[in-house]
Amino acid sequence: MRPLIGITGRKDTSARLLGSPLYAVGQTYVRAISHAGGVPIILPPMMQPDDWPILLDKLDGLLLTGGEDIAPELYGQEAGGWVAGTDPERDASEMGLVQLALEREQLPILAICRGHQLLNVALGGNLYQDIAAQLPNTLSHAYVPGRPMEDKVHTVTLEPDSKISHVLQGTRYEVNSAHHQAIKEAGKGLRVVAYAPDGVVEAVEMPNHPFCISVQWHPEAMVPKSEEMWPLFYALVEAAK
Ligand code: MN
Repeated sequence: MRPLIGITGRKDTSARLLGSPLYAVGQTYVRAISHAGGVPIILPPMMQPDDWPILLDKLDGLLLTGGEDIAPELYGQEAGGWVAGTDPERDASEMGLVQLALEREQLPILAICRGHQLLNVALGGNLYQDIAAQLPNTLSHAYVPGRPMEDKVHTVTLEPDSKISHVLQGTRYEVNSAHHQAIKEAGKGLRVVAYAPDGVVEAVEMPNHPFCISVQWHPEAMVPKSEEMWPLFYALVEAAK
């Protein structure tokens, strides 16, 4: 049986269909899961607490996707002027799902960008609300409109004894970058396993979990043009079998 991989969706604020607002997710996430052998299913960003256990009974794995900033109140900070476009409903929906997934199941999780930050916050960690404002003299990590997402922006160095370096079979990669926030303090049970050259955290993982890998870059946007990030998706699907 091919495993069922839940992919967190978002609200599409850019368009309407017949006047109705849309739920959406980037096609690259869905196609990467399908290509890797999983059955993708998009999870709407409005799940209620009663929905979480029912979903977790059915899912074999979780892909936590990118998106808007997480409300800083969820990690014990007041929002500075840099935070915009938060979606409290999505925050609640995903936080509940992830916390329950981590508590009750050994469900394989691959977390990307916002998903990576969400995993950290769900485990009690916190974030820099804006890298450029709060970490001067760092590289430019933010999304640049018009720049293709497969473009490589900076290197990351992986801890050689990490699960992610075992999966990717290497310790140094050129990656894309489309984030203005980053992990400040890692949450309980998370190990920081990759940094950008400026010291910004680019990946964490849970050593005491069968498969919980979390990256700040966007492997799903790299795989159409580069082979080297495919193992992350293959490994998620394999772990979910
Ligand atoms: Mn980056």
